[in-house]
Amino acid sequence: MLLKTRCLIVVIFVCSVFLFFSCADNKPIVRPPETVEITEPPVPQEPVETIKTATFIAAGDNLIHDTIYKQARARTTDGTYDFFPLYEHILPLVSSKDFAFINQETLLASPPFEPSTYPRFCSPTVLGDFLIEAGFNMFSVSNNHMLDKGEEGLKVSIDYWAQKEEIAVSGAFRDEEDLQNIRTIEKNDIKLSLIAVTSSTNGLYLPVKSPLKIIKTENEELLEQQVKAAREISDFVVVSMHWGSEYATKNSENQRMIAQKLADWGADLIIGTHPHVLQPVEELVSADGRKVLVAYSIGNFVSAQNEGPRIIGAMLSLDLEKNLSTGDTYYKNPCLIPTITHYGAGFSDLKIYPLSDYEPDLAKSHGVRKYTDGFDINYIIKNLTMIVDDAYLQIPDNIQALLAKQYEVFLLR
Ligand SMILES: [Zn+2]
Repeated sequence: MLLKTRCLIVVIFVCSVFLFFSCADNKPIVRPPETVEITEPPVPQEPVETIKTATFIAAGDNLIHDTIYKQARARTTDGTYDFFPLYEHILPLVSSKDFAFINQETLLASPPFEPSTYPRFCSPTVLGDFLIEAGFNMFSVSNNHMLDKGEEGLKVSIDYWAQKEEIAVSGAFRDEEDLQNIRTIEKNDIKLSLIAVTSSTNGLYLPVKSPLKIIKTENEELLEQQVKAAREISDFVVVSMHWGSEYATKNSENQRMIAQKLADWGADLIIGTHPHVLQPVEELVSADGRKVLVAYSIGNFVSAQNEGPRIIGAMLSLDLEKNLSTGDTYYKNPCLIPTITHYGAGFSDLKIYPLSDYEPDLAKSHGVRKYTDGFDINYIIKNLTMIVDDAYLQIPDNIQALLAKQYEVFLLR
């Protein structure tokens, strides 16, 4: 018994000494190997995406005179229309964008109506098919020519557009319920709404009992209701305004006043059409502090008009960003990309070009020179810079280089 107790004391003493020295030396205690679980290094987490982006472009008045549809018809042998050569040079600008807007100035209602020209336009529905295939997905059908074929013409047009999917068409509605169905389109998680408004229908009106609805500028109460409703259901509100005075290269005070109201009600972007010439671009600040872009008029897209300023148009380009953390959507890099509708003598071979692809020699052969003396690249640049602030104007490098060269020659003289 005594021996057992002594042995135990010795064991406790040895252990205590061992532990004491271990701690005093501050050395790691060597332990027998254990089964070690090998864990994979952590997989780096994908950064949480907080910004969604999309691209946007807008074209002005697609004004289809008889020259244009007759040329398209002459390109085929089966009685249909080939619009490809007319738009060929601007197609890359459209097809590369998430959102592409256009004002379809002429009614698409042929068939059943015969195609017709000024003053009561009607265009082939296959033009609409072509534009959709080209990448346009936001259409205004609200303009002074929308009643050119009366109530029946507008109804045919509404039926035509209603068959198309994944596009937003605004401006003409079947009835009150359809009017309240604000048109929207979504890309990359960014939802846009489109409201298309016109200030005139060229003195033509829907019959009093017609169920069809349109949005006129003068109906301010409806306009306010529509913009506010659009604000509720979308990230970014686009308002197409067919307004202003034809051929006026400056916006009116009235346009500005309406633009400010639209901004205050909730519009983010106001695209102006109808004057057939360019008007300035400016940024307003809405009542709730948003920057709101107003392009008072982006001019004709295509037409067979006959004055220099009427064949110089622009496509409005901007980038959209949606901040997923705040829910805010805003535009960046707004600019006008100048376009020229070119034709030869007698409006022959009509085509639209971005200015970057428009050769100076082609300008010198433009059929418009019969009506506008001295139409050339310099005339185009002068016209553009006179109307639109440089900050919103994209003059392509090749054209700038050309102008710089001319300026140098001028200085050397
Ligand atoms: Zn118009």
